[in-house]
Amino acid sequence: MSYVDEIYAKVVEQNPGEPEFHQAVKEVLDSLKLVIDANEEKYRKAGVLERFVEPERIISFRVPWVDDKGNIQVNKGYRVQFNSAIGPYKGGLRLHPSVNQSILKFLGFEQVLKNSLTGLPMGGGKGGSNFDPKGKSDREVMAFCQSFMTELYRHIGKDTDVPAGDIGVGAREVGFLFGQYKRLTGLYEGVLTGKGLTFGGSLVRTQATGYGLIYILDEMLKKNGKELAGKTVVVSGSGNVAIYAVEKAQQLGAKVVALSDSNGYIYDKDGIKLDVVKEIKEVRRGRIKEYVDAVPTAVYTEGKGIWTIPCDIALPCATQNELNLEDAKTLLANGCFAVAEGANMPSTREATDLFVEKKILFMPGKAANAGGVATSGLEQSQNSLRLSWSFEEVDEKLHDIMVGIFAKAADAAERYGVPGNYVAGANIAGFEKVVDAMIAQGVV
Ligand code: NDP
Repeated sequence: MSYVDEIYAKVVEQNPGEPEFHQAVKEVLDSLKLVIDANEEKYRKAGVLERFVEPERIISFRVPWVDDKGNIQVNKGYRVQFNSAIGPYKGGLRLHPSVNQSILKFLGFEQVLKNSLTGLPMGGGKGGSNFDPKGKSDREVMAFCQSFMTELYRHIGKDTDVPAGDIGVGAREVGFLFGQYKRLTGLYEGVLTGKGLTFGGSLVRTQATGYGLIYILDEMLKKNGKELAGKTVVVSGSGNVAIYAVEKAQQLGAKVVALSDSNGYIYDKDGIKLDVVKEIKEVRRGRIKEYVDAVPTAVYTEGKGIWTIPCDIALPCATQNELNLEDAKTLLANGCFAVAEGANMPSTREATDLFVEKKILFMPGKAANAGGVATSGLEQSQNSLRLSWSFEEVDEKLHDIMVGIFAKAADAAERYGVPGNYVAGANIAGFEKVVDAMIAQGVV
């Protein structure tokens, strides 16, 4: 049995009932096979993979709080501190009823590689709770966040573990969490990222994932003799990532013709008017179909189907598994030559395999959406320096980081004989740095 197969079998045996974690380990190890096979003796001797797939620590705790009716509620709280070989743990907190240990381990595992790719000194972690903020009052959300932090504060700190937001954790929740940390410890430090601008947040964090996606796309196109200007682009979703991807793509001369939400999609042959979208999504919190009220020449279609719109470039920025094999075939048949993933795991495994096999320009989410966590890393730096950089300074650093990520993924793919395969390249480049550090630090 190969080293990879052996480790995967152990993961399944020793982590029963954790299908998401098994899937993530399998996908990553499969794409790392080239590098693992080439270094098998060295890695086996150091027990590298055995340690790589086992979180350093999982903290699991009770989160009791009182709702508006005076009833006591109890949720499960977690922090998975996966790997600190290259820096303090870094990764978001997710508040959603679906949260469990398997999902947080899968996300924490992926985060280790993504953070490594940014080139910043950040280890990987993830945390959260099965608490559902939807429909809760501000007071209930605050009561939950304060109780959650009353346990979590013992395990985090600016030099040990720096959580951020994720699904269900936005500026409001980060504010409540930060306030309780400060109250419990008496420390005003950069222990969380995604903070408001008045208490240590960073400029560009809002735009970072979308802008970063376009920076790496632009670099991938240039390095392959193409350019973004004049290309027709389809973007799915109409949330934070999608909106700022459209903004930057338009600034660089692309024509974005479609956007979606979970109800349906709009097609505007003349190019999306982003001010209309921002008004609907950021101000009114409305539905994307309202776009046609303001732009009657655009067309709204209920349901899925955004990938049937012909385009040169597709940017899935909504959610996991939103682009399947059929969608991938349709895109290719319509002449799409580049795909960059703004969302986490938006293409199914089969769709990804087809893109790689057909050798189109495909940048996986782990690399393409790393601008968000990279800018969180820049927020940490500013907090440690007790300085705030200007929008232009942060944006320039973000741009350099995304160009650097492309170079690392391209170089690793080249070195292992699969030039242009950025899926393998991104995983290998992220893995190499972490593993070097793990070996250098001994058996810990
Ligand atoms: P938002 O919640 O702001 O937006 C998500 C968008 O996707 C909404 O328009 C939503 O529509 C749409 N959507 C959700 N589910 C579906 C579906 N089943 N079909 C079609 N559209 C759907 O999230 P973000 O923009 O922040 O995140 C998008 C993705 O990017 C996620 O995978 C996230 O994990 C990833 N990501 C985000 C980062 C960030 O910094 N924000 C960083 C790295 C990754 P509706 O309003 O109807 O729900």
